[in-house]
Amino acid sequence: MAIQISHDAPNSLWAATANPHPQSSVFEGEVFCDAVVIGAGFTGLSAALKLVEAGASVTVLDAQDIGFGASGRNGGQVNPMLPFVSPEHLHKLVGSTYFERLTEASLNSADTLFSLIKKYKIDCQARQKGWLRVDHCRKMGDVAWANAERWNQYGAKMMPVAGGELASLSGSQLYQTGIVNPKGGAIQPLSHVRGLANAVQALGANLHGNSKVDALIQNDKGWLVKTAKGSLQCQWVIVATNAYSDDLINLEQSILPFVSIQIATEQLPKDVIDNILPEGHTISDTRRVIMYARREPDNRIVFGSHGEITRDGMLKGFEWLKRDAVRIFPQLADVNWQFKWGGKAAVTHDRVPHFHEPAKGLVAGLGFNGRGVAMSHVMGETLADRVLGKQAEDLPFPIWPIQKVPFRNIQLLGKGTAIKYMQFLDKLESTNFSRI
Ligand SMILES: Cc1cc2nc3c(=O)[nH]c(=O)nc-3n(C[C@H](O)[C@H](O)[C@H](O)COP(=O)(O)OP(=O)(O)OC[C@H]3O[C@@H](n4cnc5c(N)ncnc54)[C@H](O)[C@@H]3O)c2cc1C
Repeated sequence: MAIQISHDAPNSLWAATANPHPQSSVFEGEVFCDAVVIGAGFTGLSAALKLVEAGASVTVLDAQDIGFGASGRNGGQVNPMLPFVSPEHLHKLVGSTYFERLTEASLNSADTLFSLIKKYKIDCQARQKGWLRVDHCRKMGDVAWANAERWNQYGAKMMPVAGGELASLSGSQLYQTGIVNPKGGAIQPLSHVRGLANAVQALGANLHGNSKVDALIQNDKGWLVKTAKGSLQCQWVIVATNAYSDDLINLEQSILPFVSIQIATEQLPKDVIDNILPEGHTISDTRRVIMYARREPDNRIVFGSHGEITRDGMLKGFEWLKRDAVRIFPQLADVNWQFKWGGKAAVTHDRVPHFHEPAKGLVAGLGFNGRGVAMSHVMGETLADRVLGKQAEDLPFPIWPIQKVPFRNIQLLGKGTAIKYMQFLDKLESTNFSRI
């Protein structure tokens, strides 16, 4: 049965403005293929793309719509860095070999993504105009540039920016110092994930929404993948379910899901928007409860941060978000915030993305720690490389066992309080830091 795929992110700017959803159908019947990809987000679809390019027969299944997860909901900021302040921190966690590979892969991740978009002519408002990271306090201003210089030794190409120049680039008078990463940029994420899906289908892969995988059974031919209406026999299974992971292979317990929320303005008149991010940079700050924002080609501002989900599944935190947006950009005091939405992303306990191979023919990749727009594509390609025969020890990611995050339940229970405490610390540090 052919169905139109819709997008369940109520009141999202992306859903309102994205290119049409790809045609898809609920998976039914019995099928043989080389690989089944579970999860139709950036990770799963970029893995599928590389596999079909190489001639493999591939089926992609998603429990919901294509792009339903974080890939269709995120801030679309292409930030080519893992979230480690210093290179030494990452080195200590993964050792020399993987430090070099992960550093190279992450610093090149924006180029990887923009090249893919160009190659497949994906229409997603892609722009590589730089990422402005502003320091919320003096202490951070002191350490951030020292660390950026160390990352530059590995090819990061970041530049310091301060004072009047920073105020002009950002449109905010609040910051004294910051860093420009010229490789950063932005995409319309839902258009991008739909563009990836179209490319995958055009090359011959089968794509099925509303087709949740309920069970994986290993047998002498590889894997039997079961959904409510059918089954697939394949040699390889790729699990790309990130923060929407369940207990299928126990991935859920290996990450902490965090909620991120966003608001977007109506289209703004020139005199209101003109000096906000005039050169098209994306912006984020160094607070624990981070802000990230961007200016749209149709003159809207999109602004995001951490949020919460209530017990009855409602997103929470939008009022604080609006106040924070106006604190940073007072020009937005009287605007109408037309859209609000959010979703779940995945944090690993060590902040390194995790590649797993828990059994022969079964691989998974997740945990991008807020940098998944670019890094999920690197992970997707890596998963595909493994399926295509690359040796496990030659991959950019170390292979981790699937392990429960230490004190996970306590961390989940205390999340609301932790956010409030982090906001308190951020505020304390930021006091007396503004330029005017
Ligand atoms: C609001 C928000 C803002 C963000 N902003 C940014 C940003 O600006 N920059 C950045 O770098 N990162 C950002 N991120 C993170 C980034 O979006 C993610 O890291 C990335 O999209 C993860 O992609 P993915 O394909 O691995 O997972 P997802 O896109 O989450 O896809 C997982 C899919 O798996 C499916 N699934 C789960 N279980 C099953 C099953 N049993 N059977 C079949 N399908 C299943 C789900 O339905 C889902 O569609 C943000 C995240 C959120 C939520």
